Amino acid sequence: MGQLYQAITEVEENIIKLLGEVKSLRQYVEYLEEENVSLKRQLCAVSEADTERVQKNAARIQKEAHDNLEKLYSEGFHICHIYFGENLEGSCLFCNAFLRKD
Ligand SMILES: [Zn+2]
Repeated sequence: MGQLYQAITEVEENIIKLLGEVKSLRQYVEYLEEENVSLKRQLCAVSEADTERVQKNAARIQKEAHDNLEKLYSEGFHICHIYFGENLEGSCLFCNAFLRKD
């Protein structure tokens, strides 16, 4: 009888623990839902024109960066991650791979 009583007590304790976890999970879900709503609102606040401008500028920056690297390379410097800025003699596999990537 003592053993059975103990087993029931343990089950009871587990249920209480589980309920606690369910409660904190529910709070977490509520928090995530609120955050989701707020993020959606922020997303709508960014106009299509702004998004387009950011994309255009990003492309321009990327192109300029690539052009500068190409220029540096043609002037005889490594542009690869391994020897960046060092004098280039002949050709470098890494630099060539880097230039081809874009
Ligand atoms: Zn190189």
